[in-house]
This record gives sequence, structure tokens and C-alpha cells, in this order.
Amino acid sequence: MKQSKVFIPTLREVPAEAEAKSHQLLLKAGLIKQNAAGVYSYLPLATRVIQKISNIIREEMERIEAVEVIMPVLQHSELWKESGRWEAYGPELMRLNDRHQREFALGPTHEEVVTALIRDELRSYKQLPLTLFQIQTKFRDEKRPRFGLLRGREFIMKDAYSFHADEESLMKTYNDMYDAYYKIFNRVGLNVRAVMADSGAIGGSHTHEFHALSAIGEDTIVYSDNSDYAANIEKAEVLYTPSNHTHEEEKPLEKIETPNVKTVQDLAAFLNVPQSQIIKTMIFNVQGEYVVILVRGDHEVNEVKVKAIFETDDVSLATEEDIRNILGASSGSLGPITDKDIKIYADHYVQELNNFVVGANEDDYHYINANVNRDFKIDGYFDLRFILEGEPLADGSGQAKFAEGIEVGQVFVLGDKYAKPMKATILNDQGREQSLTMGCYGIGVSRTLSAIIEQHHDDNGIIWPQSVAPYELHLITINPKKEDQRELGDKLYQALQSKFEVLYDDRNERAGVKFNDADLIGIPVRVVVGKNASEGIVEVKRRDNGERNDVHIDNLIEHIKNLSN
Ligand code: ATP
Ligand code: MG
Repeated sequence: MKQSKVFIPTLREVPAEAEAKSHQLLLKAGLIKQNAAGVYSYLPLATRVIQKISNIIREEMERIEAVEVIMPVLQHSELWKESGRWEAYGPELMRLNDRHQREFALGPTHEEVVTALIRDELRSYKQLPLTLFQIQTKFRDEKRPRFGLLRGREFIMKDAYSFHADEESLMKTYNDMYDAYYKIFNRVGLNVRAVMADSGAIGGSHTHEFHALSAIGEDTIVYSDNSDYAANIEKAEVLYTPSNHTHEEEKPLEKIETPNVKTVQDLAAFLNVPQSQIIKTMIFNVQGEYVVILVRGDHEVNEVKVKAIFETDDVSLATEEDIRNILGASSGSLGPITDKDIKIYADHYVQELNNFVVGANEDDYHYINANVNRDFKIDGYFDLRFILEGEPLADGSGQAKFAEGIEVGQVFVLGDKYAKPMKATILNDQGREQSLTMGCYGIGVSRTLSAIIEQHHDDNGIIWPQSVAPYELHLITINPKKEDQRELGDKLYQALQSKFEVLYDDRNERAGVKFNDADLIGIPVRVVVGKNASEGIVEVKRRDNGERNDVHIDNLIEHIKNLSN
């Protein structure tokens, strides 16, 4: 394709709000254009990359016998009410009404639609297992769309759903998907790691996320140097082995004025105690009921673990107003010593303490020398906090190490989470009706495009891996006004097109501009027609390592082919 015909609106300056490198480069190299917050047009170069990623996904899906479909984006609320997610999904679900005031959603994911399809169309166990996939635009009204395509409100996803008569068949497909995901991400040039994860709003039991390692990643991955252990920090279990140390003698409870002390750090400094001698008190709203959660002052509550314990996604931190209504103080002075009828749960590590500091449920007051059982009761101890770097891992393999990752994919065992409420059954080999068991498997296609750029760029621009590059070759004539250069350029363009995908920079721009754009756009191999054109010699340059060679046109095709091997 001639570059003069391709729409590539490169920018000199990128908007300051583009924090992520991939976001900056996508804008700068003219790949995307923002239309609204988290909503983008994919311009020609990006469209080609999306198609290449999609085709690699298709090949690997078909290899494991998943078949492609296109399901509706517009989804009737009835289905979501059947699964219970019309309520549960919350404000991320984009909702709209049709002209008859019937409620619809723009699909953020397709469990309901696909389960209804299979329920209505599939009758016998003989048709199982069955895996359907699609590549399609999804909608989620994200609270904070950001980082360009990394967190959009409209984005492209590959989603697959598998249906089985039994657990064994489901686990086989799950493992096939897991392997296929590694192949896909390797083929598109991403360095990824599969980690154990929480199943969140989609539900189910067993799940892995695939993370592209990158500093911009919004997730923290906990891993071990000594084993395969890797988990999302939300999921990473904290080991608790009760220590042998005996508690010191209980001292009398004492109320202390702590004016203007807002944080645990402030309090530790004010009272001259370590943060680990303070207990943090928080109130959560769990399905409309308030509960108190306690963790040590140097630990952080992990909300995902709170959700897991109560087996619901409907968990949120109580508002300041609610907190004041319940315990009569601001969040900075809360404590578990109260005559209010409220359940109190604590992290395991709270058991290690006595004579500790807690809020007094009165603004600007704390208690010192508080003790469990004497001053208040605890209704249960659980693992409720985030692991810290360096703590022992749950598999006994050593210490926790941390890395940042971008979640590019996730695989889930759903079991009968959707099949049951939506009554998706089949007739088994004894002619009896039985519930189906399911898995679901997502890849963020547009997020993958960004993650590739995060892992493959330099100061001058993008460095596309060969497999997903928008074009394979960038042919540039330095000065098309010179006849020998223009003629050779045109001739090579004709000749090379049958072997490679060629972008031909035929523009009447200065050489510097063309080279800068070429670096920015990042096509793997550049062929430059310049001052040696009349002798049939061109320069071939690799984008990744900068290696360049003068090559005679008779050897050009072979030379380029060797580069990509
Ligand atoms: P996140 O935790 O990042 O919000 P998620 O776990 O909610 O993502 P899934 O429901 O697992 O997302 O969706 C499958 C895949 O779709 C994700 O692994 C991710 O790659 C992609 N994805 C999810 N949300 C977005 C988004 N807002 N923008 C771009 N890609 C997304
Ligand atoms: Mg996910």
C-alpha cells in the first residue's frame, strides 16, 4: 500500500494526559483517535494489527476445536435477570431501552446469551463437548477508563464458552485453553505469566489470569523464585502459623486523647508505638449488612478476600456517613469496643497481639492496652489481608516476590453457575435430564495490542514483533523527485508486493521526516532507496536492533527472508 493513501495522522506532541507509553505511541504514530473517554477509532495501522492478533487467536482456537460465532451485542435484560446479574453487575453494565421501553444491555461478556442459545438448541450429550468463540466489541462503563486501549469502555475481546456433560471434559478443555493462551501470547510477542486469580463478578471456582509483565500494569503479581507459584495479589494466600510467643500480662484499658491524628502512621508516631501494635478497624457493607473487619496497623485489608469469605460480590466499604451512624465516630477513630450489635471479624495476625491500640469510637480518642475477649469478642478469624513482599508463600516454596502485570486474558471454570439458574440441561446417556457444566475464556484483543507496545518500543517509537506488524516491509525512497530513485522505488514496490506486505513511503517529504515516521510506526524491516539507486543498491535496516546492510536488488528478497528467520 502506498503511504500517501493510508490514513496515518501522526502527531508531534502527545496530550499530557496520556500516561502510558503505549497510549502515547498509539496516538503519536497515528494508530488510534479518541472519540469519548475510553472510546476510540482504530485507524488503518491499528486495524491491521488487530486483524493479525485476531487471526493468530483464530488459528489457536480452531486447533483446540473451538468454533467461531458472532452473538448479539444488544442483550435483552430478561436473560440477565435469569442469571441474577441484572442487579449484581452494577453500574459497569451499559443499559438502554428500546422504543417499546424494553430494557437492554450492551454486552460486557456473553455468558447469559450463550447459555440461552445452548439451552434452547442443544439436546443431547452426544453434541458435547462444544466450544464457541467470538471476537467482538464489548462495553463496560468503567469507573476510570485510562491508559488508552488498556482500559476502555468499548474494547475488543475474544470470548469463548465451553459446554460439557462432566467435570473431566470441562477440565480437559480448560487445560487446552490454558495451553492455547500461552501459544497465542508467545506468538504475538508477549512475555506473559499465568497466575492464580479470583473469579470476581463472572463467578465460578477455578481460574487463571494471563499477565503481560509491565511496569504500567494495574495488577500486582505474587510469585516465587523457587517454584511455579504465581498468583494475583488479590488471591495470594497469607500463611499463618501461630507463633509461640506468650502474651504479656494484660494492662488496664486506658482512653487517650489523640488530637488531629488521622492515619496509622500519625498514631504510631504520636503514641510512640510500632504500627504493628495498632489495630485498624473498618466497616464493610456486605449485602446491606454492616460488619467490622480488623487488621493489624501495618497490614492492608484485601476486599476480594472479604468477598470470598461472605461468598458475595456485593461488598463495599461503608461511607463516612454510615460509619458515624453506626459507631458514632469518623473512620479515623473507629474501634471494636462497642455495645452495638455488629459482627466483628479479624485477620489471623490480630491473634498475635495484646495490649494493643484501637480507636475509641469517639473522634480524636483511642484506647491503649485493649485486649480481645476482655474488652470485645471476635466472631471469626480469617485470612483478610494482602501478602507483603518477602513473606512466606502458601505453597511453602519460599518468599513472595512482586511484579506488575497487565491482565491480557483469563480462563474460568464456571461449573453450573449459569447453567443452573438459567436451566440449561441436556439428556444424558441414560436419557435423564442433567445440568450442563461450563467454562469461559477471554482475551482482551485491544488491550493485547497496547501490551505489545508496552513490551516492544524504544525512545523513537514502536518496534512491532514480525507476527503482528501492520506491514512486513517499509519501502522508502529518500528523494522521489530524483528519477532513478523514484523508478527503482516503484519497481521494487511492484516486485516486493507478491512476497511481503509492503508499505511504500512515496510521499514528497524530507528524508528526516520519513525516517522519523518509520521509526515511530515501527515496521520490522526498512528498505531505503537512496543515492545508490542507479547501481541497483538499497539499504536494508532492521527496526529492532538497528542493523543495516547495503544489498543489491537481485539479492533483496532472499536477504529479507533471511532476516525474518
Ligand atoms: P480488569 O480486572 O482489568 O477490569 P476483568 O477481569 O474484569 O478485567 P474479564 O472479565 O476477565 O476482565 O475480561 C476478559 C479480558 O478482557 C481481560 O482479561 C482483559 O484482557 C480484557 N478487558 C477487560 N476489561 C477491559 C477494558 N475495560 N478495556 C480493555 N480490555 C479489557
Ligand atoms: Mg479478568
